[in-house]
Amino acid sequence: MNSGLSSAARLADAGRVVIKIGSSLLIDKESGQLNTGWLESLAGEIQALHARGQQVLLVSSGAIALGRAYLEMGPQQRKLREHQAAAAAGQVLLAHAYRELLGAHGIKVAQVLLTLEDTEDRRRYLNARNTLETLLGLGVVPVINENDTVATEEIRYGDNDRLGARVAEMVSADCLVLLSDVAGLYDKDPNASSDARLIAEVRDITPDIEAMAGSARTAYGSGGMATKVAAARICMSAGCATVVADGHHDKPLARIADGAPCTWFLPSSTPLAARKQWIAGTLEPHGELHIDAGAERALQEGSSLLPVGVVEVSGSFARGDAVEVVLNGKAIARGLTQYNSTEATTLVGAHSADIEARLGYQRRKEIIHRDDLVLLEQNDNNE
Ligand code: GLU
Repeated sequence: MNSGLSSAARLADAGRVVIKIGSSLLIDKESGQLNTGWLESLAGEIQALHARGQQVLLVSSGAIALGRAYLEMGPQQRKLREHQAAAAAGQVLLAHAYRELLGAHGIKVAQVLLTLEDTEDRRRYLNARNTLETLLGLGVVPVINENDTVATEEIRYGDNDRLGARVAEMVSADCLVLLSDVAGLYDKDPNASSDARLIAEVRDITPDIEAMAGSARTAYGSGGMATKVAAARICMSAGCATVVADGHHDKPLARIADGAPCTWFLPSSTPLAARKQWIAGTLEPHGELHIDAGAERALQEGSSLLPVGVVEVSGSFARGDAVEVVLNGKAIARGLTQYNSTEATTLVGAHSADIEARLGYQRRKEIIHRDDLVLLEQNDNNE
């Protein structure tokens, strides 16, 4: 992303935006109830993004805090299972509130609860991604939170900053907006030093930047600046920009666009390029799809790989694994497969219309979607 751009341009340029809302913005400290007025103003902003053709995903905290107030839990009730019970109750209230507030603007919502494992395990990751893509395609705003009732202490995010970043990575978002109660990253603790300076732009998360983030925590919620920087790091390597801003104002997005102080973490590449880099460079291929010359031409023209072009399958792989695409014994591409090796073998040569009859169930028509496919450079023409 271009460093010369204004905040307004960066927000406007983002086709897909993940907005993370911290508990301290959602919940009124005194009453423990939802800040409905603030949420209403945000709902108006989401409608404005939709009207410009931008897609929005919300990552909302607040289930535990709301549930605690609703179940009248006292300060001594802070065991994990009590938090989990609170989350179960609070999530209903949260989902209801989003449904009402966005519904008033004609926007449909869907609740998606994720755990750490859902974003780590390749198959579950792919399922979650396909669901989110489908929802976005339908014009729905997914409202996402950690599935706190099943996440255990060892395997949970615990903070929605990093969950938001994983979601942004999962859907190849262009921008993650972390709305919280701090204006951004300061070079020193602004509560302790009056000359603390806000860093407007970060292009590289150096040990210095990490030291600045420290481990400050907010009153509600689990994230501090350290988890925001960790989230920004995830996003940067996914080609997604992150902006950290104080959300304690009506129309928080317009405020960022109007030039309010905030910190932008800027990636050096686009989401698609970063994703392709990850597929080509990081993942170990688990098998091979041998294709014919017709399929190869289609891939060179930017199409997805369809079963009809596959002539043979080798190796044992699961859905979501990386595989190599081979023509005449030479690897020409790599990609993430939508089918496991057994299914792929069953589908060899199948026309799209025959997929359901061969498998006995309906699935996507591509074996590798073009967004999940990287053509490998062929430097050995003389061999
Ligand atoms: N998942 C938690 C909740 O909904 C919030 C985690 C966080 O504060 O970031 O209450």
